[in-house]
Amino acid sequence: MPESTHPLELRIQNLTKTYKNGVKALDGVSLVIPRGLYGLLGPNGAGKSTLMRTIATLQEPDAGTIRFGSIDVLAQKEEVRKLLGYLPQDFGVYPRVSAEDMLDHLALLKGLTQGKERREVVHAMLQRVNLWEHRRKALSGFSGGMRQRFGIAQALLANPRLLIVDEPTAGLDPGERNRFYNLLAEIGEDVVVILSTHIVQDVMELCRNMAIIHQGRVLFAGSPEAAVASLEDRVWARSVAREQVEEYRSRMAVISHKLVAGQPRIHVLADEAPEPGFFAVSADLEDVFFANIAGLRIN
Ligand code: ADP
Repeated sequence: MPESTHPLELRIQNLTKTYKNGVKALDGVSLVIPRGLYGLLGPNGAGKSTLMRTIATLQEPDAGTIRFGSIDVLAQKEEVRKLLGYLPQDFGVYPRVSAEDMLDHLALLKGLTQGKERREVVHAMLQRVNLWEHRRKALSGFSGGMRQRFGIAQALLANPRLLIVDEPTAGLDPGERNRFYNLLAEIGEDVVVILSTHIVQDVMELCRNMAIIHQGRVLFAGSPEAAVASLEDRVWARSVAREQVEEYRSRMAVISHKLVAGQPRIHVLADEAPEPGFFAVSADLEDVFFANIAGLRIN
């Protein structure tokens, strides 16, 4: 297939967006997103949904460009929509219609007008997302995990080359999350899949490439392994009393504090043990995430 009809990557350059209330949701975002699963990791309010909706042609940036292969995303919206699957953060209404009937209806809207072909596509999709045995149940009675799998089914109907899933695992229990991970992993390497999340584990388990985004800016872009390597041998931990946490923060580059067996434990970024009593821990993606969000100097 010639390159022009087989887009390989998404290129975002200098995207900015300030909402009418003055919030700068995107502040010069530039990213190159290759095929496969790409994690967009950031805390709530970071700008992830704004970026996703902009890529999905649902809203306009103030400035910047987005290209998907040879397509100018901001100018050729219809072209993008033909290649796009989108699972928004909130899929909206879950009517008292069965999963099968709803998917059939959505497939019809996508242009699958031939009854037999449509039925085959819908059946195959229900099996693929593991909802076959629930196909006659009303969507309104679906669990969170089943809804997300239905959401993926509808997003995959048109065989997209670009799949955008916004915070898909929020609110899922561990079993549902696992099933959803497996489904995303299966979608494969042929498609650009952008997954936004504030859950570090999502990115760790699924994504070969990722970006950390905070306050509308990209703080890191690369592989999770490279992200972790940037902190290697520089993370130190110790258990502290609750009332000491702030004092440590004022003296050291505290990455995070969390409870371990009920007691606060701090992680500190330093080239050597900051004080007696600290022990070395191997860095993980959570350290990278919190160190970036805290604005610590990593390089
Ligand atoms: P995320 O998806 O990472 O949680 P969002 O893109 O939803 O981040 O939001 C980024 C920032 O923009 C937040 O401060 C949010 O409150 C603000 N924001 C999002 N949508 C709007 C809007 N339609 N009008 C005004 N502010 C908005």
